Amino acid sequence: MNGHHFKYVLIGGGLASSSAAQAIREADHEGSILLAAQEIVRPYHRPPLSKEFLRRQKPREEIFTQESQWFEKNHVELRTGCRAARLDVARNAVTLADGQVISYEKLLLATGASAKPLEIPGSDLPNLYYLRSLEDSTRLQTAADKARHEGRPHAEGRGRIAIIGAGFLGTELAASFVQMGLSVDLLCGSEAPWGNIVGDAAGKFLVRYLEARGVRVRPNVRPLRFEGDGRVQRVVLPDGQNLECDFAIAAVGAVAHRELLRGTPIAAEKAILTDEFCRTNVANVYAAGDCAAIFDPLFGKHRMIPHWDNANVTGALAGRNMAGANEPYKAANNFFSDIFDLTINGWGEARFVDRRLIRGAANGAAPSAGFAEIGIASDGRVAQTVSFGMSNQEKELADLVERRANVAGLEEQLKDPSAPIADK
Ligand SMILES: Cc1cc2nc3c(=O)[nH]c(=O)nc-3n(C[C@H](O)[C@H](O)[C@H](O)COP(=O)(O)OP(=O)(O)OC[C@H]3O[C@@H](n4cnc5c(N)ncnc54)[C@H](O)[C@@H]3O)c2cc1C
Repeated sequence: MNGHHFKYVLIGGGLASSSAAQAIREADHEGSILLAAQEIVRPYHRPPLSKEFLRRQKPREEIFTQESQWFEKNHVELRTGCRAARLDVARNAVTLADGQVISYEKLLLATGASAKPLEIPGSDLPNLYYLRSLEDSTRLQTAADKARHEGRPHAEGRGRIAIIGAGFLGTELAASFVQMGLSVDLLCGSEAPWGNIVGDAAGKFLVRYLEARGVRVRPNVRPLRFEGDGRVQRVVLPDGQNLECDFAIAAVGAVAHRELLRGTPIAAEKAILTDEFCRTNVANVYAAGDCAAIFDPLFGKHRMIPHWDNANVTGALAGRNMAGANEPYKAANNFFSDIFDLTINGWGEARFVDRRLIRGAANGAAPSAGFAEIGIASDGRVAQTVSFGMSNQEKELADLVERRANVAGLEEQLKDPSAPIADK
């Protein structure tokens, strides 16, 4: 081995790469590892960026995936501020942005994703923000401070903002900014937040829950344009209404980083395709996390699963397989979200859901005992479960998806939160 050759090269500085490094080191104590990370900080967890970190309830030091000494102690060469620029899979080589060529035996692509840009007139104004990185979250803290001090007045203080997009991120941001004292309009492209993730009853519950806590949810609205004097001062809606604001945030999805594939035979659609072992179609090249679409045997399909748990699980799985294991992906994927004091946990895939039933009651605006949504595919098997604060039954809800349980004939029992969750 020399300075330009590593047994394992991990490209990307997020959770998937970090989990892979840890898994490799647990399986192979000797093999050299390079982790090339474009950002200038070591890998960190992104969920706090829209929640406790943004609200200044969690300090910066607590969001990193590993202590700063971990990399050195475990002989993982961490290069931050280091972008991989080109791949030559025929030569097992990566060219870094500074021109250095690194060769590998096994390569992991864990390049993650970027916020999807909103392309309407005025999107280029400087106070339309996106959130993906630690730097973005810090920028939002500063914008919120300024709006709170000098911004537009509202009933309880100052600072009005508009959030475009009511998926996980937009909804969490709306909750956080209300908790930070701002007035928030949440523009929702569908009838209710999380429109393509949950059904009608849960969507309506989310509207009530958010509105009861001060978020103004605006259903079925896509903004026409942003206007203002050199900065966003208002959002113009299709019905002619103007939403005055101090700044706006677009949370309209993410785009997987695939730039490195250019000129390579690595197969990709919207993300890099892997089999259930996290292997791409090119020998010795693996992919994991948000940049990948893994073949999920549970659903018999390639799936993009842009969530924390998936980056952790597939990163570690890729790492173990790169180090010689031969383990397939067999998890029921999880997502979680925290909105005000409600924790939501989901498993499985909404796209396969044909109809939904509610366990418990999704009425009101504060589920004391929680409720769950159980999504059933057209073949009668559970495709997705989502717990809204039903923390004492989450294991069973996850299990329904993991077993792809056939629940024909059990529906009344499933709706009753005091009855056991079980299939035939
Ligand atoms: C604000 C926010 C909140 C979230 N909250 C939740 C949540 O509550 N629950 C949940 O389940 N999920 C949540 N997620 C999703 C979760 O954080 C992601 O799924 C996870 O971060 C993906 O990890 P990753 O390592 O695949 O990619 P990333 O975290 O995107 O990391 C990839 C890294 O690789 C770097 N990179 C890209 N190209 C190169 C290159 N050529 N060379 C070197 N480095 C490169 C990128 O700059 C980036 O730092 C949230 C995401 C965000 C942004």
